[in-house]
Amino acid sequence: MTSPARPFLNRRLAEFGTTIFAEMSALATTTGSINLGQGFPDADGPEEVREAAVRALRDGRGNQYPPGPGVPELRTAIADHQLRRYGLSFDPDTEVLVTAGATEAIAATLLALLEPGDEVIALEPYYDSYAACIAMAGATRVPVTLRPDAEQERFRLDLDELRDAVTDRTRLLLINTPHNPTGTVLTREELTAIAELAVERDLLVVTDEVYEHLVFDEAAHVPPATLPGMRERTVTIGSAGKTFSFTGWKVGWVTGSPGLVSAVRSAKQFLTYVASGPFQHAVAEALALPDSYFDALRADMLAKRDVLAAGLTAAGFEVFRPAGTYFVTADIRPLGPELSRNGDGLAFCRALPELAGVVAIPNAVFYDHREAGAPFVRFAFCKRTEVLTEAAERLRKAFAH
Ligand SMILES: *Cc1c(COP(=O)(O)O)cnc(C)c1O
Repeated sequence: MTSPARPFLNRRLAEFGTTIFAEMSALATTTGSINLGQGFPDADGPEEVREAAVRALRDGRGNQYPPGPGVPELRTAIADHQLRRYGLSFDPDTEVLVTAGATEAIAATLLALLEPGDEVIALEPYYDSYAACIAMAGATRVPVTLRPDAEQERFRLDLDELRDAVTDRTRLLLINTPHNPTGTVLTREELTAIAELAVERDLLVVTDEVYEHLVFDEAAHVPPATLPGMRERTVTIGSAGKTFSFTGWKVGWVTGSPGLVSAVRSAKQFLTYVASGPFQHAVAEALALPDSYFDALRADMLAKRDVLAAGLTAAGFEVFRPAGTYFVTADIRPLGPELSRNGDGLAFCRALPELAGVVAIPNAVFYDHREAGAPFVRFAFCKRTEVLTEAAERLRKAFAH
């Protein structure tokens, strides 16, 4: 991909000129395709939460700079949520920080905690902002690859590979569970092994849990901060975007020990300083919704997952049924060498809009070891059921002969 930024962009960011999402969303528009590339819901979240934002705007709450750490009502709601769901107790004044989405939380955390030359271990494939933020911090990313298990059911972490990746320069482990794009939810056993490694090698752990409420079947979300020895070394990142289907509001947060949170706040104050004033008040109300809201969200996404997974299977893809998130990763190789472009997911995704009228994202862009991700593509299922049914039908027509 050539980028118009090329002659100006500094060396740290040169490899991040443009994202695949811009290219694929443009393709979706020019071909009139169903866009299952970018992960945003096509229906807004709960009416009462939207009304809470309107009320905050009208009442003049948050229209001027809110407090740097976030409005007190929201910090309290975040602390209550962590206690109610996970038994984690945080002081809203010293251990909670509101950010401009999880994106800023990730950036501020990495910019605050890393020295140039530090190594960061991240699970590959990884969310695209991780690599860019590690680079902006002048640090080095060390990917540990999640690979399909023998049954081709789930992408799993090789704990030996993780252990071997730690060096004297490793400063932190950056993990994401439930994991985008693979849909893997790390198990308590895997997370316990990660925690033991972090304690043994005295590493910080940054954990991106924006899909904490989208966990299906028998899987359970285990926040790493709940494990022995972890609370004081873990920065936990959350967001309202995915949980309440308001991705444009950009309300995220960080919880952790006072030392870690105040370090992150030091970086955050020079990024946005503050953001999303009235929306912070609305999210405070949203986090206090009864369990029935979160259960209904999960049930709704689970039904959508099953519609899309069944459609992909019927079209001839091999599907990794996600235990969490709103993405499904599929292997294109069973479509055959011609249709799968010899298992090249990038070529496949560039051809897919013309071929089937559907847009997907090639997982290879989320890897340093691109060959490890080559045959996998990601579809988002946070869309209305009729949209998913239509996409499934188009894929079946294009591929199932
Ligand atoms: C969407 C997403 C984010 C960004 O969340 P925002 O709150 O919209 O900034 C961060 N991490 C992962 C894994 C995501 O999928």
